[in-house]
Amino acid sequence: MTGVARNRRPRPAGRSGRVKTATTEWAWANALSVGMPIPPEPIKTTLMTSFPCCKPYWYYIMNQMAGQSGDELIRRVRQVLQLEKHEGYRDRAVLGGLEGFIEHAAAKLSGERLASELQAKVKGYAEMPFAERRETIRQLEDLLRNSPREGAEPTIEQPNGGLYRPVRYAKGVGERREKLLNKLGIGTIEDLLLYFPRRIEDRSRVKRIAALRHGERATIHGRVRAVDLIRPKRNLQILKVAVQDVSGVAYAVWFNQPWLKNQLAQGRKLALYGEADRSFGSVQLTNPIWEPAGEGFLTGRLVPVYPTTEGLPQGALLRLIRENLSLYQEDIEELIPEGIRKRYGLLPRGEAFWKIHFPESLEEFERARGSLAFEELLLFQIGVALERRRTEEQRGRSLTIGDEQLEDFIASLPFRLTGAQLQALDEIRQDLSTARPMNRLLQGDVGSGKTVVALLACLIAQASGYQAALMAPTEILAQQHYRVIAELVERAGLPVEVGLLIGGLPEREKAELRGMIEEGNRDLVIGTHALIQDEVRFQRLGLAVIDEQHRFGVIQRAELEKKGESLDILVMSATPIPRTITLTLYGHFEISILDELPQPRRIRTYWVAEPRREEVYQLVGAKLEEGQQAYVVYPLVEESEELELRAAIQMREELAQGPFKEFKVGLLHGRMNEGEKREAMEQLRQREIEVLVATTIIEVGIDVPDASVMVIEHADRFGLSQLHQLRGRIGRTGQEAICFALAGPKTEEAKRRLAAFRDIDDGFKIAEEDLKIRGPGELLGLTQHGLDTTFKAADLLRDLELLKRAREEAFRLIEKQPDHPLIAEFERRFGERFEWARF
Ligand code: ADP
Ligand code: MG
Repeated sequence: MTGVARNRRPRPAGRSGRVKTATTEWAWANALSVGMPIPPEPIKTTLMTSFPCCKPYWYYIMNQMAGQSGDELIRRVRQVLQLEKHEGYRDRAVLGGLEGFIEHAAAKLSGERLASELQAKVKGYAEMPFAERRETIRQLEDLLRNSPREGAEPTIEQPNGGLYRPVRYAKGVGERREKLLNKLGIGTIEDLLLYFPRRIEDRSRVKRIAALRHGERATIHGRVRAVDLIRPKRNLQILKVAVQDVSGVAYAVWFNQPWLKNQLAQGRKLALYGEADRSFGSVQLTNPIWEPAGEGFLTGRLVPVYPTTEGLPQGALLRLIRENLSLYQEDIEELIPEGIRKRYGLLPRGEAFWKIHFPESLEEFERARGSLAFEELLLFQIGVALERRRTEEQRGRSLTIGDEQLEDFIASLPFRLTGAQLQALDEIRQDLSTARPMNRLLQGDVGSGKTVVALLACLIAQASGYQAALMAPTEILAQQHYRVIAELVERAGLPVEVGLLIGGLPEREKAELRGMIEEGNRDLVIGTHALIQDEVRFQRLGLAVIDEQHRFGVIQRAELEKKGESLDILVMSATPIPRTITLTLYGHFEISILDELPQPRRIRTYWVAEPRREEVYQLVGAKLEEGQQAYVVYPLVEESEELELRAAIQMREELAQGPFKEFKVGLLHGRMNEGEKREAMEQLRQREIEVLVATTIIEVGIDVPDASVMVIEHADRFGLSQLHQLRGRIGRTGQEAICFALAGPKTEEAKRRLAAFRDIDDGFKIAEEDLKIRGPGELLGLTQHGLDTTFKAADLLRDLELLKRAREEAFRLIEKQPDHPLIAEFERRFGERFEWARF
């Protein structure tokens, strides 16, 4: 295990400080790094022998402590502030607290104005509430930023940076290339070597020209016989090169690359790879890959294909990687303990680096990819294991409810809970009853009845004397939850005070409600996530429920935790998230699944092309005659929101005057103010509106029981899961319902999507299909979480088995050795991103 970080540059404390098992020597090392006195010799020796990876770090620390200059001190302070932010402003960045630390530092800076300013600002930090702490850190950072010392770099000599040096030190990289590489997310030499190909193209098949079949991709060898540059149009230059081998002549054609002319001079021997086109009588290759014959670098073998950027051609990138791989081969060291490597047949690391770029066969590539993917997943799961450990060590509160009280409430419900709901309730109740904070994800298709389960959880909190918060992604949805829940609570005759806190309320009412929440007069507060971001203070918050979390954007755990130490958390999601992703995004969560619908869904879905619009209107009209209610959904595309909005408004006019003139047609869109939205929803519920023209604002969770007809305009513009969510708005009480998707899709993908929408009505299957079509990035907001680029070798969709094993091993490693040296590598690789990538 030596050399996890042999060549590592000293890492700032902000990174290493993420390790939270505070009793370990590792934590000691952290504390030391931020200004504690050097430990006596024996401890130092232990540290250095058990953490060989810290060695350079140690030299660094000792070096620093010996003659700490002002600049270095400031740097240190800055690191600590960063760590404190990272840790969620819990005054845990330094042993003894931030205030003490800054005093210590200020004493060394004595005489400087900055010193006294810092000291004044940090006074009383330990007693400050969260928001004030955050502000204080901000101000401290400002002070440092404005200090004349800014930018001073430490003068100590760094150990050989090796792989971890900026990519500009790589061979063949100058200023220009550095910029291009940075654009690709390549910051260090290591990044360059780990810049994985998107795929491997098999260019190994070499053919004679005469033997090339139409449409075949192959490599040919030949001599340039003629070169012709023509300009058929102003903006078009065609370079046509005749290449001949013993069997015949082929024409290679390039568009708008006149400079190639000089490189492809007559008589030159070339190797070309491309797709043979025989439709012009002779063999033609359009924009083929080429290189001088005999190089065998870009043709005649398996060649990796990289995502790249303009100005950095594939060939150049490949050469860079190869040269630096050879150069740095020695620096690539094993990370993973040998036992694990053997168990899973992982390639030696250096070999894996090499073969992922230069495999001899696809199997070799796959094996290399698998080895490196395993490494990534293992490291990431080490973070998850640490997180899990941390929550396990946390003391929360035990929330319990008497059987009788719970049964009474369940009996008062207007329906019987499904088996799945009861099961989930059991699991939640169990979690809440232990002193450990709950982290549970409740997944269930649209209409599976998550709301009532959430309510039950809240009741358990209330019964134990704690408050609960329920957060919805939109105000409309918060209102709806409020309405449903208030009704159920009243029905049961429970002494539970429910509050709705949304932006649309008059200021006075909001202030009043906030007061009541603070005094503990509200047991359950429903709202948007402003609930945790605003200055709402709870008296005794015990449980936070988050509905449709992936729609919130990133909620930081720290934000939640500032509202109550070690809260119990229940996250709900209607988008079935694949197991690989839950293990990653919600890696330390337990999962409950509602796999049973309270009522069978009886929605027929039709995909209808534009010419039959009138027919659709007639059918909808007939349903309305029968007293049913309908939605007409109009997509809003962000780029042209204004335009689309007008289209929706206009559509409402047309429908109200045309096909549905006998009926009451309403409008709902995101730009209406909250009062107007509420009114529209209320009217719909009261049947004062029979047709609601809406934008996708209705997509999430809206529950109007009687609606049973839906027309989706431009259905090809919606994602599959979104279509399914939309459709989930009708037929809510098990009545027959009908959904028309109006669309004339142009792409194959859109056709596939619509066909799947028409044919599949199971949400989990829909999600699977959607994942196949779109990939997980957009579907689950992974892009927004930064997760789509976090893993380079691992494929979060395909690598479930690998992930499971890596997870097991990671948990075992941390179990056996809570301060395992690989933690440092985890920090280096994922540190900050880990926080952002996860809930
Ligand atoms: P979702 O999981 O999509 O959030 P909801 O909680 O909104 O679903 O529930 C959908 C509808 O089903 C609501 O009208 C709710 O009252 C109803 N419902 C929930 N549980 C049951 C049940 N066990 N039996 C019958 N209806 C139920
Ligand atoms: Mg819901």
